[in-house]
Amino acid sequence: MEEIEKLKEEINRTRAELAILYEISNALRTTLNLDEILYIILTGVTAHVGLGFNRAMIFLVNDRENFLEGKMGIGPDTAEDANKIWTKIQQEQMDLDDLISAFKSSQSRIESKFDQQVRSLRIDLRDKNSGLLGLTVQDGMLLHITKETIKNYASDPLVQILKTDEMVVVPLKAKDKVNGVIVADNIFTRKPITKEDLRMLVMLSNQAGLAIENSYLYEQTVIKAHTDSLSGLWNHGYFQYLLQNEIKKAKNDNLPLNIIMIDIDDFKTYNDSMGHQAGDIILKEISKILRDHSRKIDYVCRYGGEEFVIILPQTGKKDAISIAERLREKIEMHPFVYAEVMPQHKITISVGVASFPEDGTTNSELIASADRRLYEAKKRGKNQICSSDIIP
Ligand code: GH3
Ligand code: MG
Ligand code: MG
Repeated sequence: MEEIEKLKEEINRTRAELAILYEISNALRTTLNLDEILYIILTGVTAHVGLGFNRAMIFLVNDRENFLEGKMGIGPDTAEDANKIWTKIQQEQMDLDDLISAFKSSQSRIESKFDQQVRSLRIDLRDKNSGLLGLTVQDGMLLHITKETIKNYASDPLVQILKTDEMVVVPLKAKDKVNGVIVADNIFTRKPITKEDLRMLVMLSNQAGLAIENSYLYEQTVIKAHTDSLSGLWNHGYFQYLLQNEIKKAKNDNLPLNIIMIDIDDFKTYNDSMGHQAGDIILKEISKILRDHSRKIDYVCRYGGEEFVIILPQTGKKDAISIAERLREKIEMHPFVYAEVMPQHKITISVGVASFPEDGTTNSELIASADRRLYEAKKRGKNQICSSDIIP
């Protein structure tokens, strides 16, 4: 009889586990947004209706820089907070779906000290002291650190931050490559981590690793679709979208905004003497100079042929003119190959500047204004900038 009861219990537990996994994997399929994916994963790990861990955090591998970066942490800061949150969730009878919808509709993350702490973490994977996190990325194996074994890791950065006596560190994988790590513990309830907990975590992390990979692939595809292949700059279509967006922001927040339109001087001469392929190399080089000497907040775009446009958000006319002047100088000074075929023996640009809202409040008004001044700069002898200081 006892045996049957035991089996029944086991079947019920397995059924509950499957239901949780089913719900999480369904939720993961509803979005390609990385923040939402991370939230769904961590909610699955921490919610009472999920795996029920007290705290969980997620780290992602930054391949290019060989770092593991803290991305999100869910968990109360104190035992008192924990009780408040858990009681509320229970009273409102929130299931996983409700928790996830609440996050999606609020569009903002829950700002806890724990979350901030997690997001400030960066672990160098080349460092020999990258500890348990580094080891998990390297070996791709789950690590269960128990009350007995934690003594051996007293100086581990992760153990020092979590100040916990039992935890689990789980790799996230896509195609056999570790792309992140989940860490979870029960610091407040001190409930021991069971074999079932570990099994569930492994199944959840398999789904999670793939969801994260898909989100990366999607992001790359989107970026590629908006990038001009020759110059690597934003393409014309995306420029129009960005400008519209920046105009909206400038209107709402009452901020200045400028655009600068650039055209290479006598480029036809260069192409005619050196051929189009040589011309393309110059275009690439100029694109790189424009990008290298712009600020992080600026959008450098290829408008068409040998014309570029840069959106300068939160920037007044005076600053826009000095940025344009700096770019003009950088190009005039740059030693381009075969520049001697050009009329002045150097490659130069002409620039038109237009300011929001004085010169226009729509895409086409601002572009027309910058274009008109660019034409004026050409008329006045090229290799110069024209703004409303010269023609209104
Ligand atoms: P200016 O602007 O000083 O008036 O003279 P320009 O000779 O540069 O005249 P315009 O701006 O009209 O020149 C466009 C030329 O740029 C035509 C073509 O030879 C060259 N061009 C446009 N797009 C490309 C491109 O993608 N690759 C190359 N190699 N050349 C291009
Ligand atoms: Mg042109
Ligand atoms: Mg030109």
